[in-house]
Amino acid sequence: MGRFGPDSDRTAAAVHEKRLWSRLMELATHGAMPDGGVTRLALSEADIDARRLIARWAESLQAEVLADDAGNCFIRYAGRDPELPPVMAGSHIDTVPGGGKFDGAYGVVAALEVIEAMQQAGVRPKRSVEAVIWTNEEGARFSPGQMGAAAFAGTRSVDEILCVKDRDGVRVRDVLPRMLAALPKARMRSLGVPITAFFEAHIEQGPELEAHATQIGVVTGIQGRRSFIVTVLGEAAHGGTARQSERKDALLGAVRIIGALEASVLENESDARLTIGTFSLEPNAPLVVPGCVRFSVDLRHPENATMKRLGDLVPAICARHRGACAVEVVENANAPCAYFGEPMMQFIEAAVDRLQLSRRRIFSLAGHDSREIVKIAPTGMIFVPCKRGLSHSALEEAEPHDLAAGARVLAEVVIAACDA
Ligand SMILES: [Zn+2]
Repeated sequence: MGRFGPDSDRTAAAVHEKRLWSRLMELATHGAMPDGGVTRLALSEADIDARRLIARWAESLQAEVLADDAGNCFIRYAGRDPELPPVMAGSHIDTVPGGGKFDGAYGVVAALEVIEAMQQAGVRPKRSVEAVIWTNEEGARFSPGQMGAAAFAGTRSVDEILCVKDRDGVRVRDVLPRMLAALPKARMRSLGVPITAFFEAHIEQGPELEAHATQIGVVTGIQGRRSFIVTVLGEAAHGGTARQSERKDALLGAVRIIGALEASVLENESDARLTIGTFSLEPNAPLVVPGCVRFSVDLRHPENATMKRLGDLVPAICARHRGACAVEVVENANAPCAYFGEPMMQFIEAAVDRLQLSRRRIFSLAGHDSREIVKIAPTGMIFVPCKRGLSHSALEEAEPHDLAAGARVLAEVVIAACDA
């Protein structure tokens, strides 16, 4: 996996806690909300401004900026042999509406910190190091997420993702050129270039590390997910005159379906997670029987076999409980669980031990870009604690020294992998 030594140790030692923290706080001004949270939807003005800021940081580090057709951005610090596939580290900088300052942003800023620490320590490894910003991890604006990473890994085609629309009908294709225009010095590169390894540092988004007073989580894998868009088509009618027995009420159909999904999916499956995160009805008027309802179904389970079985239930349940309405079910994401493997986990654990930090293994219930990248390269994830496990919230909080500890582990593994 890699070789630890004086170069990786010196880089880790040069990680600067205050610099890391102040960059995170500066990044959080883009999309800042009055309550302390951040709304920086993928390819929004705030996302574009944040990337512009990161490109400025890259310039001050004399690092090259690259981009690809999925809008992924790479800050490249060339190694002694620039022909070798680079070692990448990074995450995403888009947020959910009302998200926090650390989810994703930490992994990108930590990767930049590794590059700066390398320079300060006078380390130039054999392979190049690239800090990466994956486009649209959250999928809050353009669903589903992990879009840039999936395109990079070849799971989704560029043609398909460019056509994805947000709620206002704006396509990825319409806004991506604006983002690229904001980075005039970025060199375009083809998607999915070979990489040696990928590392993602991230806040845990769960309570385990804090509860066990542990500094580093070594991630074993990432829970899979299947998601669906369900459309229930009824018939709009006058709320006062249409006979109850003859109505095709799309809302009542949707309510029956959701109740049945809850009963069937969650029955005897305490590890399953079911979320109806979006819901709309038409015409949405007080005196009109709803003619059309559309909602999302997000389904997760830590085991692939159960995940498959539960997901396969969704279309059948929708059909069985639709009543007089028609129903259409479209599956828009099917990402099996990812496992990072024993050699990668032991490699990260060796770095943690080298730095004399505490550690435990954690299976990630939240999705990450790494779930895509592990399909094409050795991939590892490093978790740091966050307060009360809160994330996707303005209350998301992390301690500067915990973030710096995670960045030091990242520095060790990145530099060690560069000299593999
Ligand atoms: Zn994230």
